[in-house]
Amino acid sequence: MPDGAKQTIVIQNGTLIDGSGKAPTPNEAVVIEGPRIRCVGRIPEDIRNADPDNVEFIDANGQWILPGLIDAHTHLSYGNPKLPGEARGRGTVRPEFNTLRAAWNAQKVLRSGVTSISVPGGSWFTDVAVRDAVKLGLIQGPRIACASQMIATYGSIEDEDPSWVGAPDHSLGKLCNSADEMVAEVRRQCKHGVDFIKLADSRSGDTQCISQAEMSAVVEEAHRRNARVAIHSRGAGSTRDAALAGVDWIIHADLATRQDLEIVAEAGVRVMPTATFVERLLVWGRKAGQEIVQIDLTHIEQRMDDMGLMLQRLRELGITVLCGTDSGNYGWMPYGELHANEADILVRYGGYTPMEAIVAFTRNNAYAMGLEDELGTVEEGRLADIILLDEDPVADISVLKNGAHLVAIFKDGKRVNLDAPSPAEGMLRFGETLAEKQSAA
Ligand SMILES: [Zn+2]
Repeated sequence: MPDGAKQTIVIQNGTLIDGSGKAPTPNEAVVIEGPRIRCVGRIPEDIRNADPDNVEFIDANGQWILPGLIDAHTHLSYGNPKLPGEARGRGTVRPEFNTLRAAWNAQKVLRSGVTSISVPGGSWFTDVAVRDAVKLGLIQGPRIACASQMIATYGSIEDEDPSWVGAPDHSLGKLCNSADEMVAEVRRQCKHGVDFIKLADSRSGDTQCISQAEMSAVVEEAHRRNARVAIHSRGAGSTRDAALAGVDWIIHADLATRQDLEIVAEAGVRVMPTATFVERLLVWGRKAGQEIVQIDLTHIEQRMDDMGLMLQRLRELGITVLCGTDSGNYGWMPYGELHANEADILVRYGGYTPMEAIVAFTRNNAYAMGLEDELGTVEEGRLADIILLDEDPVADISVLKNGAHLVAIFKDGKRVNLDAPSPAEGMLRFGETLAEKQSAA
């Protein structure tokens, strides 16, 4: 047991939002023993009469108890925004430095109330290393489920170099131009301990880069090895084929037609829209100005409107939505700040109720961790990942954003020390000026 930690923790008198979609209920006690939730509801007699030295009672009166949040789309090893002064040579500093930086950023994620992340793609096996270091208690961070390099063909997202260069080791994509090569890569990655495989269709969805037969080959091999499969798929054809091939979840799907999404619904495949990234581009683009961001903001506005329609369509069709932000993918997607934005977008753009958004952000996302029977709800026997808030997220989903209303975080039954200085303290937040930081202090 860590210094001073008690055997049993009892969270009393809070309002429980258990992640299942059930209405919030006043709750006498959530009892945590070791890494798990022993019971929810009445305090057991033995605990009521226990030696107070062994039990920590936390009064959550006026507070809300939720499952720890799960961001099902965070790229820990991309390490964006970069640190001031960090060397940038492609592939020259990445493996070793990347791992240390990812470990440092992981702490920021956890301290924002996100107790688990699913990592759909990264450099080398950086995320596997950080995952294991967290698991073994070497460093503090969220629970991690991860893929490694995305399986790409010529023209896929993350096939960035000319064909005569190929895909260097430091690429985020691994070039595999046949089903056989893909299957061999699945085997290699599984051998190195990934939790799932990430397939990469084209960046913008204009061309389909992976055939249905290739997807099926990957799914068959990965499932045989107990690994799931996710795909970056924006286009209609790739989305439909991914559903038919039994890919476990589809990331984006924003250019799929209603008919394609009907096939996705029929197949029971989950979709992770990842709208935060688009909205953030819009918000940041407007702030920084078109000349600086060099993107057509009218195009992004259109894309966000289309995204809203798609979210509504997913809801109408009863497709299970996963919540992911793409944090760490770009300099304007910093760790620990945007993880709850996706839930907020589901409500504002997609017409989801705040409770539906909370379920997507907790219970639904446990699937992307491979832990749908263990995580994502506050229930007897589940892993004790719990947060306490001082505002009601059902009344206003935006209170989840940026950890602003967090009172406490528990992961694996252990309380995260929020009094210790944050690893980000003293650093400028993305887009913040020194004058802004000084006036905030
Ligand atoms: Zn991503």
